[in-house]
Amino acid sequence: LPTPPMPKGLPQAELSENSFQVLSRRYIRKGDNGELTETVEEMFWRVAYHIAKVEKAWGVDVKKRAVEFYHLLVTRHFFPNSPTFTGAGTPLGQLAACFVLPVSDDMGRRSDGIFQTLRDAALIQQTGGGNGFAFSSLRPSGSLVKSSAGQATGPIGFLRVYDHAFGEIAQGGTRRGANMAVLRVDHPDVEEFITCKTNENQITNFNISVGITDAFMHAVEENEDWPLRFPDVHHPAYREFDGTLEDAEAAGIPIVTYKTVNARELFNRIVSQAHHNGEPGLLFLDAANRGNPLPHLYRLQSTNPCGEQWLGPYENCCLGSVNLSLYGLPEGKVNWDAIEKDVHLATRFLDDVVDANQYVPAVPQLKASAMRARRLGLGIMGLADLMFHVGIRYGSPEGQEFASQMIEFIRYHSMQESIALAEERGAFQSIQGSLYDPQNLRWQPPTPLFEYTRDFGRPALDWQQIVDGIHKHGIRNAAQTTIAPTGTIGTVAGCEGYGCEPVFALAYVRHVNDNGVDLPLTYASPSFEKALIDSGLDEDTRQKVVEQVMREGTCQNISEIPEDVRRIFVVSSDIQAEEHVRMQAALQAFVDNSISKTINFESDAREEDVATAYLQAWKLNCKGITVYVAGSREQEVLQKSVSE
Ligand code: UDP
Repeated sequence: LPTPPMPKGLPQAELSENSFQVLSRRYIRKGDNGELTETVEEMFWRVAYHIAKVEKAWGVDVKKRAVEFYHLLVTRHFFPNSPTFTGAGTPLGQLAACFVLPVSDDMGRRSDGIFQTLRDAALIQQTGGGNGFAFSSLRPSGSLVKSSAGQATGPIGFLRVYDHAFGEIAQGGTRRGANMAVLRVDHPDVEEFITCKTNENQITNFNISVGITDAFMHAVEENEDWPLRFPDVHHPAYREFDGTLEDAEAAGIPIVTYKTVNARELFNRIVSQAHHNGEPGLLFLDAANRGNPLPHLYRLQSTNPCGEQWLGPYENCCLGSVNLSLYGLPEGKVNWDAIEKDVHLATRFLDDVVDANQYVPAVPQLKASAMRARRLGLGIMGLADLMFHVGIRYGSPEGQEFASQMIEFIRYHSMQESIALAEERGAFQSIQGSLYDPQNLRWQPPTPLFEYTRDFGRPALDWQQIVDGIHKHGIRNAAQTTIAPTGTIGTVAGCEGYGCEPVFALAYVRHVNDNGVDLPLTYASPSFEKALIDSGLDEDTRQKVVEQVMREGTCQNISEIPEDVRRIFVVSSDIQAEEHVRMQAALQAFVDNSISKTINFESDAREEDVATAYLQAWKLNCKGITVYVAGSREQEVLQKSVSE
């Protein structure tokens, strides 16, 4: 698609060599011989222009808006997810990273039967989108299939089929296929599901998560029996039925108990498996559905691959992240006004993406579902960088409150913009009957997990104005906020901490393959180096400190570093699992979708420690939890490999 030439006088990009390398490999358009056919600035302009273009329909000066978007992008203050960079103004045209597809208990009769969904997923994957699937509706293995008088394959069998198929498809030409498989904790095949990735070479194209219900967690606490159940597949009404266990119950279809297990034993098996290699993760179905903005349309059953986005059938979400590392002011202050301004513009950008996205025309349900809800996934990256700047320890009570105040501010302003957009352009199609229905507004302003006691200079927020705004104008987007992993965009933006994660290491050796020769490059955190200089350490000492950090992976035991610097410069492994969970929960209170976050444990963590974190996450209303015990997996986790 043609992009008009860039207006003169626009600022140039300032990128590190590493950012430039990733960006040219992933985002810049290339000719037949692989040569780059656009400059970095032209790439940003292409994206800015093709997103702004949709505003023509509302009489907006497209060039003016494109210049505004260009500034936001070229200065790295906000980046949309990778597919928007590769798809905007290109024949690909697909801009979103996250999808969820339904899988019905049907081989081919329905449009969302098992193989139809596989085909749809393959097409999405080719455009750079990742898919999530709940396999919970598939009848248990060994149960009867009437048409063939044979035995059912079961969800794990079909999961293997999908996995093989996806293994053959390169995602968007550059990405490795990422997928999520969910199975409910009361499905008769859940025990097989929990261990289906015990061997690391199995099911390599999927992350797996158990869909946990509150009833299960209560049964674990009370040490009760736990029935594994499925609707009666022989019942006449089952043939036309499509839905969850709760839907079957409501429809009067009898529910058959296949087996009864002890809840605590089942829970401990999940814990043990996750302790062993990080999977399965947990997804808290009831917490997600309590916040489901569209309960009149569907029950949420699955997230996208990295867990940050619960979506209904065929829904997608375009993510975008504000780069908090750039909003520090001198003397450890935060530029709240600039964040406010950029959140408004970024929200508008993402709402434009909903219209600019070509989706996958061969799967028409995608566009229809997107238009119904107009979900956005605005989030953050570089939270840890900003905390270094302000001088706050990630994970501490102060860190939790800072994160909470920050994400509250972002949610508030994103909603304010979404209401303004509703006034200008109309509310999302399915608002009637939703949580945001102005005639029957059930949505209530979110509240923090704990009382605020600290002043970070943040301007006051009046949530009543948001309530009044929705009453008056509705809201343009059924969801606004998410916190994505930002595996690639965080690298291009030059963040030290991805998404809402703490920094992984303050110094390390990166191995780069330079024409077949291994080139070890030393990396040291710029924020950390600056702090060492500011504390008056001479060059020799600084050099020694960095070498020691590289060996030990932390600066906590280095006596040359002043106490107050050590307190602030924590890395993932310095933070207690409980503190990780509290950070996630503090953020979750204001995020209407979910959060991609890993709860890191030291290599000597016990299974009980993982169990404690699971219970804590559930009690604090998290929508899911992913754990990782250091050294437990041979292969790198997805988040790390995508940034390569
Ligand atoms: N994703 C994917 N394949 C990948 C990496 C990411 O499909 O290799 C999808 C997945 O749904 C994930 C989402 O993109 O949850 C966002 O990931 P991330 O923030 O790391 O993407 P980025 O925009 O930084 O590339």
